[in-house]
Amino acid sequence: MTLKNKVIVITGASSGIGEASAKLLASHGAKVVLGARRENRLKDITEDIEAKGGQATYRVTDVTNPEDLVALVKLAKETYGGIDVIFNNAGIMPTSPISALKTDEWNSMIDVNLKGVLNGVAAVMPEFTKQKHGQIITTSSVAGIKSFVGSGVYGATKFAVRNLMEVIRMESAQEHTNIRTTSLYPAAINTELLKTITDSDSKQGMSKLYASVGITPDAVARVVNFAVDQPADVNVSEFTIYPTKQA
Ligand code: NDP
Repeated sequence: MTLKNKVIVITGASSGIGEASAKLLASHGAKVVLGARRENRLKDITEDIEAKGGQATYRVTDVTNPEDLVALVKLAKETYGGIDVIFNNAGIMPTSPISALKTDEWNSMIDVNLKGVLNGVAAVMPEFTKQKHGQIITTSSVAGIKSFVGSGVYGATKFAVRNLMEVIRMESAQEHTNIRTTSLYPAAINTELLKTITDSDSKQGMSKLYASVGITPDAVARVVNFAVDQPADVNVSEFTIYPTKQA
């Protein structure tokens, strides 16, 4: 298949879905370029991948800063000679009812979950357009296809990136640039994400749900692996990943 030797930039690679994906993709021969803010985590994950015979590098990256994404893509090109895929995965989920007016958290979610994805797209688009191939994978959420109480703003960011991925796919087909896009809609995946919730009722409800049905991030990593591994003329646009036990 097509995954081996692909150069894949991954944001939010320091834990959860990003970490699991980096490890799985590297184990199948991809060259992974990791970005997130916690350097110690990135270093450990990179060393772990290398110890198992894989290829990885990292750069401390804040996705809210466009220059950081440009630098991450530059690192991919300098280290591995190009870039084939960006996995826009960094995200935060401080859910709360709108009436709580946690406006700072609304803005942070827009900055990380929406503008952070746009920054990733902008960083790869010149290269992808020039080389006439590339793949953009983005972690939306089931909150990007259905409405949930407490997810007014989180869901808004996740609906938005879903639209973005589909429009990029359509425009690229019209422009003959062969850019593939994929949106992922995970449900309850046991990661560090719930730590970003400050509203106590939201946190309690989510923690209970995740403790009872949550599955490991490897489930999402396998889907990412599948999407990347498809032949160049196949675009798999969307995947919803539920724990079997989640209603
Ligand atoms: P984690 O909290 O484990 O991972 C989130 C990642 O995002 C971390 O690597 C974190 O790294 C990174 N991140 C957060 N803010 C920034 C920033 N400003 N710049 C760069 N990186 C940042 O949770 P998940 O693995 O679950 O989350 C990954 C994605 O999956 C998110 O987009 C989330 O919304 C989505 N998702 C998760 C679900 C779940 O149930 N877990 C369900 C649906 C969607 P660092 O702090 O080091 O910067």
